[in-house]
Amino acid sequence: MSTDYDDLYRKLYRLFDGVTPLKTDCGVLCKGACCRGDGETGMLLFPFEKTSLPVREENGRRLAVCDGTCDRRARPLSCRIFPFFPTLDENGRVRIVADPRGRGVCPLVRHSGEALFDPRFLGRVRAVGCLLKKDPACRAFLTAATAEINETKALAARFDTRSDKKEEKSCI
Ligand code: SF4
Ligand code: SF4
Repeated sequence: MSTDYDDLYRKLYRLFDGVTPLKTDCGVLCKGACCRGDGETGMLLFPFEKTSLPVREENGRRLAVCDGTCDRRARPLSCRIFPFFPTLDENGRVRIVADPRGRGVCPLVRHSGEALFDPRFLGRVRAVGCLLKKDPACRAFLTAATAEINETKALAARFDTRSDKKEEKSCI
């Protein structure tokens, strides 16, 4: 049966209604660093994810470009799960990691070992991975992102930076 992507993303978006990385507003730590759009850079869109924001293609990927403002109710999935990502391990199990690609922007990535994340948020990011991996296109997307994240982590480790070890139990 083919995936109804609109329905899938509607469900995934709802997981983050009122649920954010910390129980308090993490934006006060960094003055909302991840939402200081410059109209050039953007957030990665997942396969077949729609957005009303302008879309830019880059290396075969689609980015939702924002100028730092958006209709929060319609923000892309990447914005909702940031700064975590549901990677897939070698057995295809979901592993939640603080996304090292956001390290330059987000203090929570740099201090993921110390921050007290809201377990509901981590659970929802895990649920995103568990739902997306059932769809072949989304699974391929997660696999490619996992490879990129692992490369970024390995590179960071080589330059000594403490690698982010925050992981959560996986789903089967
Ligand atoms: S950059 Fe990190 S700490 Fe700052 S608002 Fe975004 S998720 Fe929260
Ligand atoms: S789309 Fe919205 S939530 Fe996402 S980075 Fe831009 S302003 Fe922030």
